[in-house]
Order: sequence, then structure tokens, then C-alpha cells
Amino acid sequence: MPAPVMPAYDRNNIFARILRGELPCRKVYEDDFALAFHDINPLAPVHVLAIPKGEYVSQADFCAAAPAELVVGFWRAVARIAHDLGLEQEGYRIVANHGPNGGQLVFHFHVHIFGGRQMSHRMGNMPRPSDRG
Ligand code: AMP
Repeated sequence: MPAPVMPAYDRNNIFARILRGELPCRKVYEDDFALAFHDINPLAPVHVLAIPKGEYVSQADFCAAAPAELVVGFWRAVARIAHDLGLEQEGYRIVANHGPNGGQLVFHFHVHIFGGRQMSHRMGNMPRPSDRG
């Protein structure tokens, strides 16, 4: 049987520590379901990360294991964050990386919200550092 590619949830991952207030972040939004803050290495004029308030490794884990109220509350928060950032009119991109092929580096489920410039047409790709604008 192949080894599982997704690690178990590590309570000391960076985003867990930000959630507990042990590490700083540039917060843009918080409610009962979600915390959002600026990415430390922005790849677009607006690059915000939204994380759910719960211990979930990935989108798959979140959707399988989180209570329905949290799933709905989190995704509504993502929409509200994009709205509050003023991104609705000109548009934005949301990305969630899952596992090695997805390029996931931090194993607390998170959604990237990119905006403030035209995104590339490479569907399915994260913006790259060379896209910085
Ligand atoms: P991913 O590849 O989807 O797991 O992306 C993880 C993201 O977290 C990257 O875009 C990093 O720049 C970002 N990141 C890592 N550490 C921090 C931090 N302390 N504060 C804000 N963003 C971070």
C-alpha cells in the first residue's frame, strides 16, 4: 500500500501558531470561523491568506471533517474578505494547494486570495514570483 502523502495535523505549524496568537500576522479579517492576514511573501498587489479556525490539514480534510457550520462560515468569510478588500469589481483569484503536487507548504488548510492586477492565464497555476506586479 502506498504511504499517505498528507501529514497528520501538526499543532505547531506556522498558521496554528498565528491562530493562537503566538506568532504575529498582518490581520485583515477575523470572525468565529476564519482569520485572514497578508501573505509574508506576496505574489500580487493583494495576497491574503484565509484560514479556518480549526485543525484541518487541507481542503479535503476540512470538507470531510469540519462541522457544516464551519465550512459554510469559512467560505462565506472568504467571499466577504475579497469584498472588503475591494476586489469584487475588478476580480480576483482564489487558490488552495493540496499536498505535494499542489505545492502545499503549510499544512493548515488555507485559501490564497490574489488581486490587484490581471492574473496569468495559466489556469491552475499559482502566480509566480516573476509575475510580481
Ligand atoms: P502554500 O504553498 O499554499 O502552503 O502556501 C503557504 C504560504 O504561506 C506561502 O505563500 C507563504 O509565503 C505563506 N507564509 C508562510 N509563513 C507565513 C507567515 N508567517 N505569515 C504569512 N504568510 C506566511
